[in-house]
Amino acid sequence: MYRELLADARFHNLLLAFDTDLADAARAERCRLCGGALHSAKYPRKPRGRGCKLGPEHDRRFSFCCAIEGCRSRETPASLRFLGPKVYLAAIVVLVAIMQHGATASRVQQLSAQISVDRRTVERWRRWWRDGFTITPFWQSARAGLMPPIDHGRLPASLLERFGGGDADRLVALLRFIGPITRGRARAS
Ligand SMILES: [Zn+2]
Repeated sequence: MYRELLADARFHNLLLAFDTDLADAARAERCRLCGGALHSAKYPRKPRGRGCKLGPEHDRRFSFCCAIEGCRSRETPASLRFLGPKVYLAAIVVLVAIMQHGATASRVQQLSAQISVDRRTVERWRRWWRDGFTITPFWQSARAGLMPPIDHGRLPASLLERFGGGDADRLVALLRFIGPITRGRARAS
């Protein structure tokens, strides 16, 4: 089921539409340091793990640069597609980790082979969900609102289960929910 999703251009277009909205909202807020106007400063990404061919607009991460000389800070809005510096699509980082829980070893192998993720990468993601994600300020505050508490040992499956709807709806809901951890701000150096 998830394999079809990753091969469905509509799914990727939906993620792009959410990212476009998040970028528009970030731009409207202006620079958080000085209030200056934000100029588009997208940067190229080549995310791995897609199951279909997509246009060049899918290979750009929305980002902005403050127009004020002497500030020039960079604002990178939240994204449903790109999870920090990880080279795989955010959806993949969620799905492969989920497949580890409850799925048979052969299913994990199938999906991993389809998107060519090696075992070490999968293991690294599993550790990130357990030890990296759980210590983010976002999660420290978000977890308080989730009752009963989320089982950290089963992340992200235990979080995905809290959202309703079909497979795609739940995945998109999870990506939107954790979106704040993908947001970044940096001073020009
Ligand atoms: Zn500024």
